[in-house]
Amino acid sequence: MRRFGRASSVEIGKSGRATGGRPIPVEISAWTQRGQQSRPGLTSEELPGAGHARACSRCPGRVGSSVQEHRLPESAAATLLSLASRCHARGWALATSGNFSVRLDAHRFVITKSGLDKGALRAEDLLVVDLEGNALTEGRPSAETPLHAQIYRRRARVTAVAHTHSVAATVLSRALVAEGYVVLSGFEMLKALVGVNTHETSIRLPIFPNDQDVPRLAAQVDAELGGDDCVYGYLLAGHGLYTWGDTPTEAARHVEAIEFLLECVLHGKR
Ligand SMILES: [Zn+2]
Repeated sequence: MRRFGRASSVEIGKSGRATGGRPIPVEISAWTQRGQQSRPGLTSEELPGAGHARACSRCPGRVGSSVQEHRLPESAAATLLSLASRCHARGWALATSGNFSVRLDAHRFVITKSGLDKGALRAEDLLVVDLEGNALTEGRPSAETPLHAQIYRRRARVTAVAHTHSVAATVLSRALVAEGYVVLSGFEMLKALVGVNTHETSIRLPIFPNDQDVPRLAAQVDAELGGDDCVYGYLLAGHGLYTWGDTPTEAARHVEAIEFLLECVLHGKR
């Protein structure tokens, strides 16, 4: 597994704890308990163990001895629509590009449907999928759902994922794909990333070659990054950025910060 975290002598995990170069193991059960207080917009009814009210032919036996009711909570929909429209307004998800998702529980997340204008999304444009990317409600999920699913499977604390197609991410990732990463170093804005408290920080954002075979691409990301807790996101060459957060607010802050930092690097190369 490559490592792309901070290029300092002591690796710092996203929680701010020294990891000694190892990802911090996270128990889903521990995340669930913490999440009841820390995840905005999700109620206890939406957490694992709740909502097993009726049988479901789509995922028999998937959740414990019962099944989940695959309703879409209004709070999760509102959070997701807000994240998507914010990124569209900044020009990072134009022409139906990009996709956004929010975790519902340890087994499911909600994601934007395929091919929709991210500036005009409605709640009915979202659907619920499992952590393998299978749709649990009506509609066709975004083609890049396997990449979101990889993040949720490997990063139990993550509750939101943002994927953008900005000019800076597109141009830089294509120019630097041979190096395999973009270095973000010395910028005050780095402090917007969780666990970073000084501009004297250097972060490597990994770059993967783009691939229209998304399941294969997701497998490559999984093999290279796994759930590395020192990685804040990654780039797909000539394509865009994936980043995430332990809360939707953190994911929104990370996408804004990383997009800003990529623009700084791009301007610096001109
Ligand atoms: Zn994309």
